[in-house]
Amino acid sequence: MNRTIILFSLLTAGILATSGCSSSAGDTSSGSADSTSAVSRDIFAMDTFMTLKAYGENAPEALDSAVLRIEELEHELSVTDADSDIHKINTSGGNAVEVSEDTMNILNKAVSVSSDTGGALNICIYPVLKAWGFTADEYRIPTDSELDELLMNTDMSEVMLSGNSAAIPADYSIDLGALAKGYASDEITELLRENGVTSAIISLGGNVQSLGNKPDGTEWKVSVRDPFAPDSDMCIVSIGEKAVITSGNYERYFVGEDGKRYWHIIDPADGHPADNGLVSVTVIGSSGMECDALSTSLFVMGYPEAVEFWRKDPHYDLILVTDEGRIYYTPGISDSFTNISSMPAEMISEE
Ligand code: AMP
Ligand code: MG
Repeated sequence: MNRTIILFSLLTAGILATSGCSSSAGDTSSGSADSTSAVSRDIFAMDTFMTLKAYGENAPEALDSAVLRIEELEHELSVTDADSDIHKINTSGGNAVEVSEDTMNILNKAVSVSSDTGGALNICIYPVLKAWGFTADEYRIPTDSELDELLMNTDMSEVMLSGNSAAIPADYSIDLGALAKGYASDEITELLRENGVTSAIISLGGNVQSLGNKPDGTEWKVSVRDPFAPDSDMCIVSIGEKAVITSGNYERYFVGEDGKRYWHIIDPADGHPADNGLVSVTVIGSSGMECDALSTSLFVMGYPEAVEFWRKDPHYDLILVTDEGRIYYTPGISDSFTNISSMPAEMISEE
């Protein structure tokens, strides 16, 4: 993730901004609020910059609670924090570990989406990410034999979940990075609602999620970055209460000595960065966690498999960008999608 770009966007534009999506949301202050001015909190957590913006008199206290909740989730889910559930699972020597309800919710979703997507989502891929250097920003290109050996310990059917306990084999490691931020954005929007907020928009890294409409009743405008020029926006989509979540090959990558770009989304089939025809996948739907899990999975599947997958159960919308520079979007957003790039955009048919 290019943190410089993101921080720059937050400071200069006064808008919500993430690696994948951004949204315009009006004036912002960090203190008290009337019903039309936003109160916001900027924090760095879960390895990304986050902006939470809420409207109305309950906003300041609700946002304070939201920040505490994010810190709690980070503590449970971090792969490096020695007290986290994930660290405990990864270092338990194959024994079952009791975990929080949050961790269990995400693990259950990871297992079901992995199965639905034929293994495109695989939380056991962590040792492969480590071999590429993505976990410590110390990049290198592993050999195929090294990757083949690591892939032997990535069988998702070895993830055992029962009640509130989880177990993986001793030589396995998991990481929930592909869907944890989506879970967090579901939790945060729900917590804001419970605290009396009716209008809010949050950005957790590449994930934007809204609560209600804008205070004036109109829809939010969320822009999606151009994967070929990530400082610029590619399109704008109007949404009511939705999550808009992007996985892109520009979010975290390095350029190898061979001049090629290697990115952070791994194809579990071969242990290499997924290079199956897509450079950006945006999923728009009502569940942040589902959109997040699917954005990573569909990126791995590539084009046209992602389209076939969507057609089987089209209860969410997509904006796909191919490596040839073509945009494809689903019919559900045809009235709310505006292409502001020079790339051609085409609607995907339902069958
Ligand atoms: P996202 O930005 O939501 O697409 O998530 C990408 C993150 O998920 C990466 O930084 C890794 O931590 C992790 N990851 C990469 N490839 C996979 C995969 N095939 N399945 C599950 N997690 C992955
Ligand atoms: Mg994801």
